[in-house]
Parts: sequence; C-alpha cells; structure tokens
Amino acid sequence: MDLERHNFQLDELVERIKANDNRLVALQVPEGLKMQALGMMDSIEEESGAKVILAADPCYGACDLVHDKMRMMGVELVAHMGHSQMNIDSGMPTHFIPVTYDGTPELAAVLPILEGHRTLAQSRLVSANERDEMNEEVAKERFLDAVGRVAPLTGAKLGLVGSIQHLHLLEDFMHRLEEWGFEVEIPLGGDRLAFPGQVLGCNYSGDSPSIGHYLFLGSGDFHPIGLVLHTGKPLAMLNPYTGDASEMSFEWVERILRQRFGLIMAVDEAISFGILIGEKPGQMRRNLAIRIKRLLEKHDRRGYMLALDHVSPDLIDFYPVDAFVNTACPRIAIDDSKRYSKPLITPYELEVALGENQWESGYQFDEIP
Ligand code: SF4
Repeated sequence: MDLERHNFQLDELVERIKANDNRLVALQVPEGLKMQALGMMDSIEEESGAKVILAADPCYGACDLVHDKMRMMGVELVAHMGHSQMNIDSGMPTHFIPVTYDGTPELAAVLPILEGHRTLAQSRLVSANERDEMNEEVAKERFLDAVGRVAPLTGAKLGLVGSIQHLHLLEDFMHRLEEWGFEVEIPLGGDRLAFPGQVLGCNYSGDSPSIGHYLFLGSGDFHPIGLVLHTGKPLAMLNPYTGDASEMSFEWVERILRQRFGLIMAVDEAISFGILIGEKPGQMRRNLAIRIKRLLEKHDRRGYMLALDHVSPDLIDFYPVDAFVNTACPRIAIDDSKRYSKPLITPYELEVALGENQWESGYQFDEIP
C-alpha cells in the first residue's frame, strides 16, 4: 500500500478527544493498516494526551465496532478507521476516521469496456419483457446464467460506484463520463451506506432498474463479485492504485453460481443444520436465525443456533450437523465456503433447497439491509 498518498484524517479525532477530555481511547483499524497502527497510536497519544489501546482483533468493516468489552476496560471513545458509519448502535461513542487516496486513474483505459457493456445493457433492456414460461430444468439453467439473470431493466444507465477511499472521485468521474456520452447515475443506497455511490460487501442497495451496467472505482474483486452476484449486471473496474482497467468476467461469476448450485443440491437430504449467528453488532441477525429454525422445523429438519464473534472452520466443523446456514457476514458463505468441511449456505439458498423459493427467480444475494 502506498501510504504516502493516503490521507489518514487524525486531526478531527485529536480535537474530539481534547474537547471531551477523554483519557482512554480504543483504536480500531482495518487489517491492511495494522502495521501502521503503532505509529498512529504514538501520534494520537502525543497530540491528545489520551492513552490509546489498539483493538487488535481482526476487523473487516464498520459492522464490527468494538463495544462492551472496551467499555469494561474503561475506554471512553472508540476511534474506527477506514470504514463509514452504518445503521447500527454499538453502545459506545464512536469517531469514524476517513481514509482517502489521492490517485486519479485515466478514464481512457476503461472506455472500450464501458461501451461494450452499454451495448449489452441496451440489448437486455429490449428483451426484458420477452420471457417464456420456464420448466424446472430451464429455471435451473436460468439460475446459473449470470448474464441472463432476471433483472427487469427500465434503463441502461451507467451506475458509478466505488470503495470508500475513492468516493471523492465520483463527481468528477461522472462529468467526464457524461462528456463521453454516457448517462451516469451515482446510486443512493439505504441506511447501511453513508455516502452516494458507496458499496459494501454485503449491501448494494443503491441498485435500481434504470442502471444497466456499472463502473467500480477501487481495487480487488471483493466488492465487484458481490455487486455482480447481487445485480447480474456487467461491471467494469478501474483501479486507482495502478490505473488498470478490467471487467468482472461472467465466467468467474458463473463459476461461483455453479458452486452455489452444488451446495444447494448437497443439502437436499441434510437433516440437521447449525444456524450461525454473528455476534458483531452489524452482523447480528437473530430474527433471521429464528425464522430459519422455524422453517427447518416446518420441513422436519433440526436447526441449532450457534452464536460466534468470528466464524472459522476450526470453530464449527466438528459439530455433528449435516450443514450450516450462515446469518453472520454474508461473504463468509460466498467467499469462504471451500474452507469448511460441510456445506455452508445462505438463508436464501436454504429456501431454494427446501422448495420455499424458486430457482427461476435468479440468484438472490444475501444482503444485510
Ligand atoms: S457484514 Fe461482511 S461484508 Fe458487510 S461490512 Fe461487515 S465484513 Fe463487510
């Protein structure tokens, strides 16, 4: 990571600590910044006079705010870096520290990809109303077809999104793309998202039928995979760190869908299920877990609710159940299921396996609203 070009905005935090006369502060940083955390602790302590405790457990999102254990240690304020506020209350005063990256990639590299995707979106718009009745086999094929997903488009606009370090680029990019003839929308999401154009690995609520394809400003394929699984729409990616342009290939997404298909088929005969409940404040879906337990009972299966802070194979594989349903971070089932010795599926996938939901409705991403 090119730290010189990142802006870690610690000044506001120091001002808040001084204004509140806080004596003990917890600092929570994303995994990629753990190496820099001790230096940040030094400067916060020197400038504010407060003592700082690093919350050293893994942290992958604002869903994972440290809470009661820090209060028990006497912490008065949590400083959470690199993620934005979401619609949860951890019970602790929390200061969110924005991190922005100053690199601006060239648009030219991604334009040919965007033009191809616009053509694809326009053709899908035309054929949106031309759907035939489906039998079970055709419905399963539809499930596996990332391009032909059921997505009732009303437009073919370009949706412009990004990860949080690059959101400040979106307005400028929108104008530049409009100059190239694209009709652009920066999607506004629900309460879990703090900023226009923001996406999380578990929330793409800004998607709308008027958007036919996407451009993502950011690095890695974590957000792109979720966005394409959620929307079934073509996605171009422009990496602000390297300037590289690429696209999320449908082959890649179809491979994931094929894996999900296999897991749904694998739990067909399963009798007992572990229902995972995440203890992190922004992942805790207790009501969903209880609904799943009732659903299993309705189908003469057993469900055992297991609450965990971190979900990992060594913490659950040994339970004598046939499969697991995950209600914690949705990406555990999507991205990590190969690491588990038993099928690990999402609530929607369980519904399909039990015949409570239909294949032909297209793959439904497990979103936390
Ligand atoms: S629930 Fe998962 S995907 Fe969503 S913010 Fe938390 S770690 Fe990220």
